[in-house]
Amino acid sequence: PYEVLVVGGGPAGAAAAIYAARKGLRTGVVADKFGGQVAETVGIENFISVKATEGPKLVANLEAHVRDYEVDIMDNQKAVKLASDGLFELELVSGAKLRSRTVLLATGARWREMNVPGEKEYRGKGVAYCPHCDGPLFKGKRVAVIGGGNSGIEAAIDLANIVEHVTVLEFDSKLRADDVLQRKAASMGNIHITTQAMTTEVTGDGTRVNGLNYTDRATGENHHIALAGIFVQIGLVPNAEWLKGTVDLTPRGEIIVDERGQTSIPGVFAAGDVTNSPYKQIIIAMGSGANASLGAFDYLIRHSDD
Ligand code: FAD
Repeated sequence: PYEVLVVGGGPAGAAAAIYAARKGLRTGVVADKFGGQVAETVGIENFISVKATEGPKLVANLEAHVRDYEVDIMDNQKAVKLASDGLFELELVSGAKLRSRTVLLATGARWREMNVPGEKEYRGKGVAYCPHCDGPLFKGKRVAVIGGGNSGIEAAIDLANIVEHVTVLEFDSKLRADDVLQRKAASMGNIHITTQAMTTEVTGDGTRVNGLNYTDRATGENHHIALAGIFVQIGLVPNAEWLKGTVDLTPRGEIIVDERGQTSIPGVFAAGDVTNSPYKQIIIAMGSGANASLGAFDYLIRHSDD
């Protein structure tokens, strides 16, 4: 059996695997798609000490760094079930079963998409999901934020300091964000909030976004807004559906971890975007992967004769 079996090959999983291997532990990584969200990212400018890079380049570096150690990488393998009979047993979609003394869950998350025409086509070409990452690309331009929850209004406030103007489109008749955030947004001169707005299409010139169409749900009228960017803030979905009933999750489906990255099951750890960590970024996921891996190491030395 493995001593540390990492599920997920994004920044959190890669960091966890390297830390485990450096402790001399028998380490495996199972990844549906090695690289995770980073593989889908165009420009990265906030990975500290690397001024600017691109997703695929960072993924290649991550993989090369992990392969520098004795780690079994099992790519294109999806985990579907976690069970325990003294040892942990991870079942893959292929039916194969892997056994390990500890498991480290780093399955990440995915942005909820609007599922409207143009969204996929213009992803990374004006359609963005991460204001911390992509906000500066829209300096001095007009953008929209889709979603009036806490993340949407926080994004609007953040972006309003950088861009010329922000339009917030909320589907419901009122915003769901906390009052303090709504007041802050109202106090900024360049945020306009439109409620009962259903986005129907992302428009573009073939290369980049140039606006969006929405329907006013109160009147049924259709409108077009000219924009350089669209930030979709309608939720981040943790890839933990398969763990429901196994480890404790928050109401939003995130794995609950303690300060050592341990879940509700001793010996099962979790790290990165799949956990209840409040901020989701590459550098944070890597730190949390290292943290949980050291947690697993600590667990193993305390349970060495189990
Ligand atoms: P992920 O990167 O999501 O990796 C999860 C891994 O788990 C993947 O390998 C996946 O295939 C695997 N997996 C999932 N389910 C299973 C399963 N059942 N079985 C096996 N494997 C599974 N952050 C920044 O800091 N800077 C940026 O500029 C930036 N830009 C971004 C742009 C975009 C478009 C997106 C989507 C995100 C961006 N982020 C950025 C956020 C950043 O990518 C994430 O915070 C980070 O990747 C989280 O790392 P993770 O390892 O926790 O999860």
